[in-house]
Amino acid sequence: DSRSFDAIIIGAGAAGMFCAALAGQRGRRVLLIDHSPEPGRKILISGGGRCNFTNIGATASNYLSANPHFAKSALSRFTPADFIDLVDRHGIAWHEKTLGQLFCDGSSKQIVAMLLEECAAGGVQTAFGQAATIEHRDGAFHVLVGKDAVQAPALVLASGGLSIPKLGATSFAYDVARRFGLKIVEPRPALVPLTLSGEQALFKTLSGVSADVVAQIGAGEFREAALFTHRGLSGPAILQVSSYWRHGDTVTIDFVPDLLAGWLRQAKRDAPNNTLRRQLGRTLPDRLAETLSDQLGHPHELGRMTDLALEAAERRLSAWQFTPNGSEGFAKAEVTIGGISTAELSSKTMEAKRVAGLYVIGEAVDVTGWLGGYNFQWAWASAHAAAAAL
Ligand code: FAD
Repeated sequence: DSRSFDAIIIGAGAAGMFCAALAGQRGRRVLLIDHSPEPGRKILISGGGRCNFTNIGATASNYLSANPHFAKSALSRFTPADFIDLVDRHGIAWHEKTLGQLFCDGSSKQIVAMLLEECAAGGVQTAFGQAATIEHRDGAFHVLVGKDAVQAPALVLASGGLSIPKLGATSFAYDVARRFGLKIVEPRPALVPLTLSGEQALFKTLSGVSADVVAQIGAGEFREAALFTHRGLSGPAILQVSSYWRHGDTVTIDFVPDLLAGWLRQAKRDAPNNTLRRQLGRTLPDRLAETLSDQLGHPHELGRMTDLALEAAERRLSAWQFTPNGSEGFAKAEVTIGGISTAELSSKTMEAKRVAGLYVIGEAVDVTGWLGGYNFQWAWASAHAAAAAL
């Protein structure tokens, strides 16, 4: 029957396309559905158009989840090396940019083309540009896609999270999961710029200035660039800690991570006529040095400051406190933290424990990676885990 499949996959993003390809290549009849006419739109814009498709160091410790152990099984059975093999087989050239992050030399389009070729090799049928509705009857999933009624004993939710509605993000996976009684961990924007108000709004005048810092919120601590924007704080270090941020939390920034304790007292001995601003200007962009020294309120030469005052200035510079009043929200968030609770799913197969045949993969699951290729690695690994079980 042309309307019966072994598996129907909703969402032709990273996870959905990869899962469809692998299941198809295992001989399963697969239908891959997306409401967008164009598959893999987030892949296309990812990594500035070059897709940071994995991180060679990816382990479960690079992910946030209510259950930090959940991702281990899938990640260990499909590793970054496995994905690199696939990319190599397709002759896609790549390079490591920094911190284990692998990017295409050419374009993200190559990754989408690779996934579509893999789907074709698995005989995957597709229905793009069409909305789908789902019913569960007699142990089968009945899906109405456009005007076609199709069915399968397995349904894979791969429609992602809420980030960037402009690119077609919807709450579809959460809505279906809720209908089946699965718990959802509150979805929140993550890898997102944070906004400043009140006294700290003055830092917005530094818009465009960036510095290599250590940013920290709770258990999240990252050494990368921070960028001041006209709304507040951004740059990789801030995006990273944003995943740990909740309203009311403070971001601590070390503006001088390479300087050893006592550096200002030493500077006073070496160059007593230098001002704090000039001294800071040796390690930080000039405008930032100016704002920080203004804030510290030390306009005089270092030689006129007491050691105690210098120590206090040092402490503030290595633990500057920002209290964001919000984030730029789902419109700007690279990912959604939270999602369908891992407690509802088998970590081996991604199948819902209480609903036979219902699988959830990719960003829809409450597993969220750091910035740097980790989110795609989760998409590939969770897709692989489900495909092996379909
Ligand atoms: P998605 O790739 O989002 O795919 C979901 C699919 O489901 C989409 O095609 C969507 O159209 C479809 N869909 C949604 N709702 C419905 C519906 N109701 N019916 C049918 N279909 C539906 N991660 C990295 O690891 N490296 C990067 O370089 C990187 N860069 C990024 C840059 C940006 C700007 C953004 C926004 C994200 C980036 N990410 C990156 C994160 C990464 O893109 C996601 O984590 C990843 O795409 C998630 O894969 P997924 O398949 O679960 O979801």
